[in-house]
Formats: sequence, C-alpha cells, structure tokens
Amino acid sequence: MNIDLTGKRAVVTGSTSGIGFAIAQGLAVSGARVILNGRKDDGVRAAVAKLLQSTPGADVSGVTADLATAEGVAKFLAEVGDADILVNNLGIFEPKPFLDIADADWLRFFETNVMSGVRMSRAFLPRMLAKNWGRIVFISSESALNIPPEMVHYGMTKTAQLAISRGLAEMTAGSGVTVNSVLPGPTRSEGVADFFAKMAADEGISQPEMEARFIAEHRPSSLLRRLASVEEVANMVVYVCSPEASATNGAALRVDGGVVKSIA
Ligand code: NAD
Repeated sequence: MNIDLTGKRAVVTGSTSGIGFAIAQGLAVSGARVILNGRKDDGVRAAVAKLLQSTPGADVSGVTADLATAEGVAKFLAEVGDADILVNNLGIFEPKPFLDIADADWLRFFETNVMSGVRMSRAFLPRMLAKNWGRIVFISSESALNIPPEMVHYGMTKTAQLAISRGLAEMTAGSGVTVNSVLPGPTRSEGVADFFAKMAADEGISQPEMEARFIAEHRPSSLLRRLASVEEVANMVVYVCSPEASATNGAALRVDGGVVKSIA
C-alpha cells in the first residue's frame, strides 16, 4: 500500500507541536496540502518552518486562531475555505481531583475539547458530502473508555468525541466521506513530556524513570509498557485519512498500546 494524498487539502487543529504536528507531517509527507493551526503567530510560523525543514517541498501553511472559541473558529474558516481532510486534534488535559473541578473548568474543557470539533465539523462536513469525498478524524483517547479518576472532566470530553464522531458518520451513509475517532494511549508529546519532566523534578528522579513508574502504576494493563511516540499515533491517522481506508467509517480506532483490556 502506497498512501498518496496528492491534491487533498488537510486541516489539523492544534498542530504546532505534539501529536498534531506529527499528523501534519505525516499527511504532508504523503503529498497533502496541509494547514497548521495554533493560537500564537510565532508558534504557527515556527511550526511551518520546522515542517518545511523536515519535509522539503511540502505544501504547508499556517493559520493562527484559538479554536476553543466560536470567534476563533469563524476567523479560521474565513481564512481557510475548503478542506478534504479535517483532523480535530487540539485538546487540553489537567489532572484535578473531582471535588476541585469547578463549573468553569467543566465548561472550559467542553468548549475546548468538544465544541472545537463540533464547530469545525459543522463547517466542513456539508462541503465534503457535496463533493462526495472527505475524511474527518477526532483525536479522542483511551481515557474515553478508561475514565481517569484524576481527571474525570477530561475523560468526559473524550467520550463525547466518540459519540459525536459516530453520530456524524451516520450522516455519511452511502457517500465517500468517513468520520472516525482515533484513541491514543499515553504518548510522548511535548505537553505530556513537560508534565512528566515536572513530576520527575518534584520526585527527584529522572524523566525516563518517571515515565516508567507512571506506566507501571497508572497504566498497568499497557502491553506496550512505554509511552508511544507521536509518530506511532500519526501513522494510524494518516492511514484513516487515506483513500485506502474507505471501508472504515464510524469506528473508534485504538492506538493505545493495548491499555484498554477489550477485544472489540
Ligand atoms: P500537546 O499539548 O502536546 O499539543 C496540543 C496542541 O494543541 C498544541 O500545539 C497547542 O498549542 C494546541 N492547542 C491547544 N488549545 C488550542 C486552541 N484552543 N486552539 C488552537 N490550538 C490549541 O497535546 P498532545 O499530547 O499532542 O495531544 C493532542 C491530542 O491528543 C489531544 O486531543 C489529546 O487529548 C489527545 N491525546 C493525547 C495523549 C497523550 O498522551 N499525549 C493521549 C491520548 C489522547
């Protein structure tokens, strides 16, 4: 199988770093025209430059917009127009005991992790259906299925994404459009690496030791027994975005290193 996305225009939200950047890179390497997104001009410019450096000749541009807000999405859409591939990647996480999660936190997580994908899909799905080709992918999490007790609000948003993507897939029946979710497990993105670096410093141990301890204590069912790389997650997403994945629709696809103890 040779994935060729030449002629496809792809939007990846929250793609200046982490899993989003790796997805953008994977799509660009496969020939897609890629639009990166982040909240700050500097970050977006730096990510475009980094991608061009790693993938000479890539067709990549960037749009600065805070996609956690309706205004940010409207600004983004005014600049971008059309897309064949939409990857709803951006997401925030923050461990917090349930009793300390204020109403404002719940609403912020919902706006950022859920409504960003809702608003973007509402704009792009009708155009994809009209063209009879398109791919929408929601980057959910194994936390959608194994709700983490240390961040129930995050888990709620990731389960909501599964419901939305399955519901949207129902609208694509008989067309060339697919809507799927991808569920990464613990993955060494910049956000997660920073998180472990801070925890390691607090505990007075090295970051690799902290990561190994996290997997052993908090994700003991992991078959991978380590964090995944962002590229390992991106590979699955690039495949789902390809014409070759045309028979995969309405699915929740796990790249969780086997953390979720379920066959289906
Ligand atoms: P990250 O924090 O490393 O990167 C997130 C990116 O989104 C950054 O570029 C950030 O600037 C951007 N972003 C955040 N809020 C934004 C906003 N309002 N508007 C525009 N951009 C915004 O995160 P990551 O670890 O790469 O995670 C990416 C996705 O994968 C998230 O949805 C996350 O829930 C999911 N995920 C991550 C892991 C993991 O272990 N890393 C596991 C499962 C699922």
